[in-house]
Amino acid sequence: MLKIFNTLSREKEEFKPVGKAVTMYSCGPTVYNYAHIGNLRTYVFMDEVRRVLKYNGYKLKGVMNITDVGHLLSDGDEGEDKMQKASREQKKTPWEIAEYYTSVFFEDIAQLNIGKPEIIAKATDHIDDMIKYVEALIEKGYAYETSDGIYFDIGKFPDYGKLSRLSLDDQIAGARVEVNSEKRHPADFALWKKAAPEHIMQWESPWGMGFPGWHIECSTMSRKYLGSLIDIHSGGVDHIPVHHENEIAQSEALEGAKTVNTWMHGEFMLVNGGKMSKSLGNTYTIAQLKEKGFDPLSFRYFCLNTHYRKKLNFTFESLEASQTAYRRLLSLLGAHKKSTQNTDTSVLDKYKAEFLEAINDDINLPLAMGVLWTMVKEKPSKDIFALALEFDKVFGLNLKDAKEEEKKDEPAIEVPEDIKAIAEERWEARKNKDWAKSDELRAVLAQKGYVVVDSKEGYTIKLG
Ligand code: AMP
Ligand code: ZN
Repeated sequence: MLKIFNTLSREKEEFKPVGKAVTMYSCGPTVYNYAHIGNLRTYVFMDEVRRVLKYNGYKLKGVMNITDVGHLLSDGDEGEDKMQKASREQKKTPWEIAEYYTSVFFEDIAQLNIGKPEIIAKATDHIDDMIKYVEALIEKGYAYETSDGIYFDIGKFPDYGKLSRLSLDDQIAGARVEVNSEKRHPADFALWKKAAPEHIMQWESPWGMGFPGWHIECSTMSRKYLGSLIDIHSGGVDHIPVHHENEIAQSEALEGAKTVNTWMHGEFMLVNGGKMSKSLGNTYTIAQLKEKGFDPLSFRYFCLNTHYRKKLNFTFESLEASQTAYRRLLSLLGAHKKSTQNTDTSVLDKYKAEFLEAINDDINLPLAMGVLWTMVKEKPSKDIFALALEFDKVFGLNLKDAKEEEKKDEPAIEVPEDIKAIAEERWEARKNKDWAKSDELRAVLAQKGYVVVDSKEGYTIKLG
């Protein structure tokens, strides 16, 4: 039984799709810049959900949007459209900006083995649908016109805030919403913005020339392709307040019923324990990781080892350790690939069951990875290799390319600083006869691909 944590209920729930194919909407990129590793963590998460569903035998109908208009600099309807700003700064039209960054985005996700959802929907291809959606909201009395746009009337939707469980006051403080005297409530949000003549991307509408708000885009395209009630809606945790609250308000106002069964949110990636930001110069791209000698799939391996609902701290040392562990895994599997031996069915079945239990417990990939690691340490057998390939339908780590590394005489290894620190802490624990802690730290090192060999004089750190 597949269980998924639903942000709305804050509980793990049994997953039961509405129809034959699982319908899933994933908030996609705003294509005004390169995707950074934090953004990409969120798409690895989306991909893992899709892979686990497929492993369970479900057919999928997934939609991901490409936001090429309407995402303002702040979530509170303030500031310039991100596309317009990039266009001004990079001296290209917003269309050129969108086309370029969209193509790089698809190259990036392909390198990370992230499968493309069945339907990719560009916001600018759906302006008419959005206008119709806004008209329907006005007709139902949920939206009103001001001199600068059409706004959703939050006062008419008493359930506002049920996803984030924040009071309206907290939401307003968080979103720094602009003071607009024409709005009925400070948290009312724009469905449509009237455009100044210099605004490049603008379309005709019943309210003059303008462009859609960011939130209406997702509600419109989800409804258009997936219908009034979908199984899963995914995004990053930053979407919970504002973006997804607004989507819920619009869509439930229109349908008069709930429109999403399960809300899933991926936690953030941090860098060196802090926020990722351009000004700190720590928003790395896949191209930059490659320049530093990292395989994109080592980054995927790095993401898979932390559960999607936990924060993941990125450092180059930890990525290095992941790359080492990933290569070690491929090497160990290489021995199984070459083998002509068999393994007992009962042993294989046990691994299969453990793996399924892990992935079906709210997509617990770190636990599933532990099952794989234990399995590859079995005596070399072609059955183990075949089962690892089965598991790789979920991991997406190209395990078919496994190749045994040639054994060199004790190669001198470059041990990353964080590994050295853990090994030292373990040695201290051992000296203090704190065996539990010592064992725990040994397990941590093993997960990162290292072993410590103790002797009377001290210890040495080795790979694998
Ligand atoms: P954007 O292109 O800015 O709309 O963001 C694309 C996706 O990346 C969204 O789903 C965000 O929730 C997600 N995201 C942004 N920053 C991070 C981060 N530091 N860690 C994980 N996901 C992020
Ligand atoms: Zn969205």
